[in-house]
Amino acid sequence: MRRIYLDYAATTPTHPEVLKAMLPYFSEAFGNPSSIHSYGQEAKGAIEEARAKVAALIGARNEEIVFTSGGTEADNFALKGVALASENRGNHIITSSIEHHAVLETCKFLEKRGFLVTYLPVDEYGLVEPSDVKKAITDKTTLISVMHASNEIGTIEPITEIGRIAKEAEVYFHTDAVQTVGHIPVDVNELGVDLLSISAHKLCGPKGVGALYIRKGTRLISFMHGGEQERRRRASTENVPGIIGFGTAAELAQQEMSQEAQRLTYLRDQLVKGLLEQIDHIRLNGHSVKRLPNNVNVSVDFVEGESMLLNLDLEGICASTGSACSSSSLEPSHVLLALGVPPEQAHGSLRLTLGKWTNEEDIGRVLEVLPRIVAKLRAMSPLLKSHR
Ligand code: PLP
Repeated sequence: MRRIYLDYAATTPTHPEVLKAMLPYFSEAFGNPSSIHSYGQEAKGAIEEARAKVAALIGARNEEIVFTSGGTEADNFALKGVALASENRGNHIITSSIEHHAVLETCKFLEKRGFLVTYLPVDEYGLVEPSDVKKAITDKTTLISVMHASNEIGTIEPITEIGRIAKEAEVYFHTDAVQTVGHIPVDVNELGVDLLSISAHKLCGPKGVGALYIRKGTRLISFMHGGEQERRRRASTENVPGIIGFGTAAELAQQEMSQEAQRLTYLRDQLVKGLLEQIDHIRLNGHSVKRLPNNVNVSVDFVEGESMLLNLDLEGICASTGSACSSSSLEPSHVLLALGVPPEQAHGSLRLTLGKWTNEEDIGRVLEVLPRIVAKLRAMSPLLKSHR
């Protein structure tokens, strides 16, 4: 059976060009970039080339990119790094209630250590209201962290507006751009951010590598201590093959982004239209326009998201009920609950995320299979019987 992968927000296949670029760094070019000899210098040179490619993708200077082990580490580094470095100025952080767990759990950690965190609400589409950010700022606020786009519902947040507010208030501003970099234009100066998290495996790069953009002059402390790698901001021998792969993925994304975004937006809209036409008691979660080109998230009444997922999998279609990290838990998604989706509807949610190898045939197959699955599940559903 041909498998159809529609879980690109969880992770992407590694691009063959990326893999090809990485391979020599596992074998003949194996040097440690800190070594003075030619093996070391060869690896160091390749890392600096990769850094330039990642920087170019987001309009940053090369020295403002620090490689990390992924998006989670970049988020931890930004939040803990600024919170601890600014402790003498204040202890207040502002974030949103729909952030990824990498931000929310880091905030909880900081709260246990005496920091105060404001979790801003969102509207029914998942949008943060910039004036709420402004109102939440106090003279103790040292950091605002609002994600660029939601990994679950694809809503794109008003980062430029929040950036202006942060700058005016002289508060550092971090955005988790793990779902946007390489997919839609991201420019750190246009967005007005001081810190920005990226993860390579969301843009056809390898897993286990990412970066934190740190605007020149931003005060933050490192939390990895050891050697002097990454200009003393992140100790540990660099993941050379991973970083090279990340650089190649960034370069490819920059070349292909505008065409890909257009193609995926078309496929996304076809999928949404087909689902809304063919299935009753279904609704789109998130914003219809301020939305990632590759994200479809729907709530289907009277069925469980997990049942749809398992039945789709039997037909060779791989999707998700929410974010990959929480899809093994039976708790409804914190993001959908924050939008005001009732828990029973949140339980019936399905996320389909498209990507580089998704085509029209795949969308057609989902539109053929999913309405049939929903009808079958509803026929057995006690939820539907009690509704009638
Ligand atoms: N932030 C967002 C918005 C994400 O979607 C993810 C991954 O799912 C992460 C952070 C974590 O990134 P990583 O898997 O590289 O640690």
